[in-house]
Amino acid sequence: MPIVTRRYTFRLYPNVAQTSKLFEARRLHCYLYNAAISHRKTEYERFGKSVTYLQQQNVLPAFKEDWPEYKELHSQTLQATLKRVDLSYNRFFKGLSKRPKFQSIRNYSGWTYPAYSGWKALTNGKHGQVVLNDLGINIRIRGQVHQWGTPTTLTIIYKPYLNQWYASFTVNVEVPNSKFGSESTLSYQSILAVDLGTQTALTGYDGEDFIELENPRFVRQSEEKVQRLSKKLRRKRSPNHNKKIPASKRWKKARKQVSKLQRKVANQRKNWQHQVTREIASRYDIVVTEKLETKNMTRKAKKGSKRKHQKPRLNRSILDVGFGTLNQQITYKVQSKGGLVIFLPTKKIKPSQRCPQCGTVHKHWADLSNRYHICDNCHFEKGRDKSSVMVMYNVVTNQQTGLGTRLEIVDLTISTSKTRKHTGSMKQMGEMKRQKSRQNNKSLGDLETPTSQKSG
Ligand SMILES: [Zn+2]
Repeated sequence: MPIVTRRYTFRLYPNVAQTSKLFEARRLHCYLYNAAISHRKTEYERFGKSVTYLQQQNVLPAFKEDWPEYKELHSQTLQATLKRVDLSYNRFFKGLSKRPKFQSIRNYSGWTYPAYSGWKALTNGKHGQVVLNDLGINIRIRGQVHQWGTPTTLTIIYKPYLNQWYASFTVNVEVPNSKFGSESTLSYQSILAVDLGTQTALTGYDGEDFIELENPRFVRQSEEKVQRLSKKLRRKRSPNHNKKIPASKRWKKARKQVSKLQRKVANQRKNWQHQVTREIASRYDIVVTEKLETKNMTRKAKKGSKRKHQKPRLNRSILDVGFGTLNQQITYKVQSKGGLVIFLPTKKIKPSQRCPQCGTVHKHWADLSNRYHICDNCHFEKGRDKSSVMVMYNVVTNQQTGLGTRLEIVDLTISTSKTRKHTGSMKQMGEMKRQKSRQNNKSLGDLETPTSQKSG
């Protein structure tokens, strides 16, 4: 059976004694993070040297001699924290983000156990407990997931705004073999082509009927309320660490109200998504969709662009519907019942530009303002999203005319565990161990001189 990796998050319910231990561990990790940044900074500023992750990892034992409280913590979690520093430097070197900064303990999120070692998940997917060996605590967790499996990593997260703790697991889950291995066994009766659009949240076509789901506008409805609360928050004197203005009780209270409402909206959205995707997965065995890069679509408009005003609005509706997760949820729910999800190569097929009837590609159809499509070749006419799902359906059922070659099903990117994206850090941390041993063998000669510079 194929195995896929999923991330599940549970809320932690620590008691008073456990809470203080969690805070203490978080504080230590935050200090280590800052020490690692300081180390890199001084090495670079004084000697023009850039420090690697491995050098920092090698300093850890010496660091622990000087700071014995770190000996209590699981050493892999310390490595994982150093890895966080490394990742943010990598992002910086690639020009993807700003230079890593010292983290304030106020906002520091938590730490990670990069392997199934030093902790235990006592749950079968519904509530239970998590055991953290290094802190010697056994914390109650609450939450419920569709399908539990073998846990692999654990990240402990603190949300300062809410004053709540969370445990985020990555879990390997077995999904049943797809019933539809090859083209010959495809049954065309239960195929749904899906388009996640902006005008309607979701458009589907199963060969006969269209499904159209309206964009739930609850975010916009709640927006007024959020705005009102945010205004209240702005009118309170905000804390300023530099000017030594502490957070007032009123400011804290107002901020809590805002984040509470935002969380409520997020939950409403999640519920709606689960309803929709459950319905689709129960009715269809094969789901066809196109790969969508939400990131690109939600980026800010370029400077000087005329679409400055249009883009934020488009942004908001895309984020309202919660694109990425809708796609992900359909994928895993269909997979869980042994179905198949097919991602079409958008560039090749151009579903939004192609006429489903005659196959002509109309460049101007791609313009987002073009809501209704009329083919000047065969006079076919339909709404933008509808015509696009028709093309996708036709392609998979081999009925689409106008494509250069007949697309073989094997040619398409069929969803497997490969399509699941990890958060970069976790993936890299998983590979960390192997990398370490490989590099150790390579450079045994110059391993003798890790400068045990204590910083921070
Ligand atoms: Zn046409």
